[in-house]
Amino acid sequence: MITRYLNAFVSLLYPDLCAGCMRSLYEHEELICTHCLYHLPVTNFHLDPKNAAGKQLWGRVQLTAVASYLYYVKGTTVQNIFHQLKYFNKPEIANILGERYGAVLAASPFKDADLIVPVPLHPKKLKKRGYNQSEFFAKGLSKHFKLPVESGNVIRHTRTESQTTKRRYERYENMKDIFEVVEPSAFAFKHLILVDDVLTTGATIEACANKLLQIPGVTVSVLTLAYTK
Ligand SMILES: [Zn+2]
Repeated sequence: MITRYLNAFVSLLYPDLCAGCMRSLYEHEELICTHCLYHLPVTNFHLDPKNAAGKQLWGRVQLTAVASYLYYVKGTTVQNIFHQLKYFNKPEIANILGERYGAVLAASPFKDADLIVPVPLHPKKLKKRGYNQSEFFAKGLSKHFKLPVESGNVIRHTRTESQTTKRRYERYENMKDIFEVVEPSAFAFKHLILVDDVLTTGATIEACANKLLQIPGVTVSVLTLAYTK
């Protein structure tokens, strides 16, 4: 924990350090060093229709396909990268990882979708952070998929209650009406890829996807940057 905060502090003073390992970046490297990129703990979930991320959402929401790029484990490079991404004004990290993941998925059915839709951030968080990291992830993916990113059509309302102590059903009940689609006709009869940064309980994805699935003819697949148990 202390190391993480120390790393974060150091990276404020020296912006040209790798977001994963805090070593100096070479000139050709951007935000994450070659060594960290090479050793990213990729899930390869896209090769397995019965992957753990998809199973997490089984019976809760009807999704076409689900995959996550990386395993998120505390105390690892991925945690450092996420910390930098979320709290140190480095949204481009999500863009870079999205581009890499897009290349991995180039031959997968995900690229046959129509639109990429980032899960909107909690309005208070967006105000504080200044950007939605999932939107940057979506933009990175779109470079390979050549699909438009639609980020203004889903709105997230504010909820003040904490999610942490609630059981799964209570969490879902609390999340159920948190999302709203401004213009449903823009999504009608389209295959949407809903993207988020981390899949943990799945409550957010479940609530957002279920809202999208109320629109006639919509199918939804899900991609997240990371998966955590
Ligand atoms: Zn590194």
